[in-house]
Amino acid sequence: MSAVQIRDLLQDGRLPRLEARMLVERVWQRSRAWLLAHDDEPAEPALCAAYEALAQRRLAGEPMAYVLGEREFMGHVFAVSPAVLIPRPDTETLVEAALAFLAGRPAARVLDLGTGSGAIAISIALACPQAEVTATDLSADALAVARANAGRLGASLTLAQGSWFEALAPGQKYDLIVSNPPYIHGDDHHLSQGDLRFEPPGALSDGADGLSALAEIAAQAPRWLAPGGALWCEHGWDQAGAVRALLQASGLKNVESRRDLGGIERISGGFL
Ligand code: GLN
Repeated sequence: MSAVQIRDLLQDGRLPRLEARMLVERVWQRSRAWLLAHDDEPAEPALCAAYEALAQRRLAGEPMAYVLGEREFMGHVFAVSPAVLIPRPDTETLVEAALAFLAGRPAARVLDLGTGSGAIAISIALACPQAEVTATDLSADALAVARANAGRLGASLTLAQGSWFEALAPGQKYDLIVSNPPYIHGDDHHLSQGDLRFEPPGALSDGADGLSALAEIAAQAPRWLAPGGALWCEHGWDQAGAVRALLQASGLKNVESRRDLGGIERISGGFL
């Protein structure tokens, strides 16, 4: 039997071709171009075994982001683990709304509630180095991931542990509050499908109607916002109307929703 070549792994029929290639790139620590130029070379057994270990995890359904330990968001590579939600392109809509708000306010105080990997807070901190960014999470494990990402990406921010605003020192004021809280309805069948099976349940769903975290954040935000401050939250595809109502009920003004790249009303916000 001839030795296994890199090509055999790149053409691993058990996985989508892109995924096989990403796993080979990870194990070989080589670019796509290098691998294609060397794909007729024998694959070292130790590397083959390392590839197979990752392939088995993927074949068992684990999300690519967890198998690789990273995911790109806003042009930055974030480390991710099963302690945190995998950053999604939809959430870039939230960061873009934040950056638009911060455009004329360079030294703003920014708060990200439920930061997970830190993708939102760190992307804002990197784009607005003068902003004073605070990020919270209930989970110490998530905060450790966020802290490591901030360090590696060179972002400066303050991390605080606790449930939503409980993580914060009373009396603090913020110019901008953002959050991508758990918003999936507890009965949504997607929770038992695909990547979501592997993500932290508490980051995906409140176990109820999907609106309880959004309601709590909306209700309390006015107390923590500076005059003229804004709150923007991500929510589910069918929640925009309900979230606008929550924001209005809490006394926020000029409440509006914005669409993600898929054309879905994905975030809603209001101003104090
Ligand atoms: N956007 C995610 C999804 O639908 C959910 C993230 C969240 O609940 N905040 O898979």
